[in-house]
Amino acid sequence: GENCGAVAEAAAKAEVVNKVLVADNAAYGHFLGENLGELVAEVGKGYSHILAAAGTVGKDFMPRVAALLDVAQVSDIMRVESEDTFVRPIYAGNAIATVKSSDSIKVVTVRPTAFDPVAGEGGSAAVEQLDVVKDAGLSQFVNEELAKSDRPDLASAGIVVSGGRGMQNGDNFKMLEQVADLMGAAVGASRAAVDAGFVPNDMQVGQTGKIVAPQLYIA
Ligand SMILES: Cc1cc2nc3c(=O)[nH]c(=O)nc-3n(C[C@H](O)[C@H](O)[C@H](O)COP(=O)(O)OP(=O)(O)OC[C@H]3O[C@@H](n4cnc5c(N)ncnc54)[C@H](O)[C@@H]3O)c2cc1C
Repeated sequence: GENCGAVAEAAAKAEVVNKVLVADNAAYGHFLGENLGELVAEVGKGYSHILAAAGTVGKDFMPRVAALLDVAQVSDIMRVESEDTFVRPIYAGNAIATVKSSDSIKVVTVRPTAFDPVAGEGGSAAVEQLDVVKDAGLSQFVNEELAKSDRPDLASAGIVVSGGRGMQNGDNFKMLEQVADLMGAAVGASRAAVDAGFVPNDMQVGQTGKIVAPQLYIA
């Protein structure tokens, strides 16, 4: 839920989740990175690996976890080679590095589009409540503005129709929207198109935008 930070302990070899630790406290509402970082560092001390998705939330609290545990984070992995060796993009995805961590605790963020989804149901993990409350008192939730769309989510869409500066203006993106709706596609844009003010920045695809992994990309 919204007020719940959950830490799952996955037994990698058996590929099952054995136990789910639930930390349900207002301090973790809206995933404030400062508080979550302290919580996960505290709970994570007893584990060999701490993983989170390299999304908005994970990119916020995981580097804090790594700093608190005094280990180097391995970011945005695309493949797991072994328990200490991971494959990740470097230089804006222009090269792929295989990195080995000798830290005692591996703090790793994962690129979700690089892995096959697993079933979200059918588990039989034990659920344990944690009563660890970490409130760093450093940040406070003010508000959030979420973009709403009836089209598929860019990051997980099977088809993406994307426009750049060649579209000339924001109105012309309507043509892409019509094509996209016929195909059940998401609509994306280049950074140049976003910077030019044609479309909002939640549509940006790429290194500084959203990482996409469609079967078909039309630009
Ligand atoms: C650190 C960094 C991070 C970046 N991150 C991103 C990112 O996350 N995502 C991203 O998209 N970019 C990113 N960029 C920018 C990227 O390098 C390119 O500059 C940008 O993607 C180009 O966008 P574009 O193709 O829309 O624009 P342009 O390069 O201007 O290309 C527009 C094309 O449309 C053609 N055209 C113009 N008018 C017409 C017409 N009437 N009919 C047909 N064709 C026409 C032009 O000839 C041109 O080929 C980043 C850059 C930097 C430095």
